[in-house]
Amino acid sequence: MAIKVTVWHEFRHEKTHERVLEIYPGGMHACIRDFLSDCEDMEVHIVTLDDPDQGLPDSVLNDTDVLLWWGHMAHSEVKDELVERVKNRVYNDGMGFLPIHSAHHSKPFRAILGTTGNLAWGRDQKAIVWNLNPTHPIAAGIPQHFELFEELYAEPFFIPKPDDLIFGTWYEDGNILRGGCTFTRGLGKIFYFHPGHEFCESLHNPYVQQIIKNAIRWAAPTKIGEGMENKCIHQTEAIVR
Ligand code: ZN
Repeated sequence: MAIKVTVWHEFRHEKTHERVLEIYPGGMHACIRDFLSDCEDMEVHIVTLDDPDQGLPDSVLNDTDVLLWWGHMAHSEVKDELVERVKNRVYNDGMGFLPIHSAHHSKPFRAILGTTGNLAWGRDQKAIVWNLNPTHPIAAGIPQHFELFEELYAEPFFIPKPDDLIFGTWYEDGNILRGGCTFTRGLGKIFYFHPGHEFCESLHNPYVQQIIKNAIRWAAPTKIGEGMENKCIHQTEAIVR
């Protein structure tokens, strides 16, 4: 069965900055959908903040295996009720969650990880993404390092200790970032990945694309065995032999 992927995009910068639309004709969400189109094991759907129900009515959210999230200038417009539904899908149903770039400040990121997501930032510059965990499925096929031109996102990055640190990024200003890391919350798997500034071309980079593909497959819900569902706190029956 195909992995049902929903790409949620704020889709505002493209409407106000021509340069962003030059880099990402149709929007960043369209770019992601297009590079995922060769993945026969995925069914990809794009939605935006300005769609009805902010793009995620129950009929879409409850039919999503992995949710990608890109937001920046309109984080505050996302309704708390939607954030609760997204968090619930991750914690209780095992929906994968992939916050990209400035989604580190999005409401779902903060609610799911229980953190501010604050980090240091600065000018766009040369960045080298180092592969710190080559045996992890998200790093499959990714070389020791690759170069990007990205917005500086740097430590201190206020996140809980990651389960796994997959990528570490160095910037020419000398800063570093835990730029690709995984978390588990309830039944859900989360991968944060920092590239994807609207004025940079990172989403066209083949390694960034491969990492996102790998991460979708990794974050897809695991088939949960009997008794392991997490719908409510229930009293266990004694097992007597
Ligand atoms: Zn940015």
